[in-house]
Amino acid sequence: MPLSQIRIVLVNTTDPGNIGATARAMKTMGLKQLYLVEPKSFPHVNASVRASNAIDVLAEVTVVDHLATALQDCHLVFGTSTRIRELNWVSLTARAAAEKIVINPKQKVAVVFGRERCGLINKELQQCHFQINIPANPDYSSLNLAAAVQIVCYELRMAFLHETKLDEKSIQLADVKQQEYFYQHLHNLLNKIEFLKPIRSQQIMDRLRRLFSRTELDMNEVKILRGILSTIEKKLASKS
Ligand code: SAH
Repeated sequence: MPLSQIRIVLVNTTDPGNIGATARAMKTMGLKQLYLVEPKSFPHVNASVRASNAIDVLAEVTVVDHLATALQDCHLVFGTSTRIRELNWVSLTARAAAEKIVINPKQKVAVVFGRERCGLINKELQQCHFQINIPANPDYSSLNLAAAVQIVCYELRMAFLHETKLDEKSIQLADVKQQEYFYQHLHNLLNKIEFLKPIRSQQIMDRLRRLFSRTELDMNEVKILRGILSTIEKKLASKS
């Protein structure tokens, strides 16, 4: 899911400065689709000032009269709330929501943010499939609007970067069969050089498996490791 496909929707924003700061928060994280539902004052010089070099995001803003208009072509809609489980809706942390969003590459996604003073009203939350809550201090959980946008966009970026890395890796990761051949090869050699003592042999092999599992070996790495094992075997054979 390219981040530029994810829509941020601000409902009834009072302070135009927050709109500019939102544009900046979005652009720094690679998002650019901003929708405003009935902003109190926009365009406004304070929005432009707070946007800084994200003025291009502001220039592309879509202003609409109703939340439903901003959401009509979206498949998955998330509403943000300072309270967990408002209306008994499924509530996710920003991180869990971001992971859910990035694994759905073909869907259009919107994340909706509420008014500075009173958030989103129930009728608006009901238009969302899931709720997002940033688990803040329970005694003071209400973030500034643009700060909340920044955190959600950051989590989206992190989830996106992680997903991309996995994609790249998955092309070359060693499969279970190759891994098993490697462990068998290693086991044989460690036996041959009498590194493995019968009582602890299983324990050591389990630990080595855990060690290599953490590194997510790719095909080439397994080849190199097996090459090392084979070379040692040859050297041992030539000496005996
Ligand atoms: N007094 C309002 C505060 C709204 S803060 C209330 O309690 O609802 C403005 C907006 O920022 C919220 O509507 C939400 O979109 C976002 N926001 C602020 N803090 C948040 C948090 N902890 N989790 C999720 N969204 C938050």
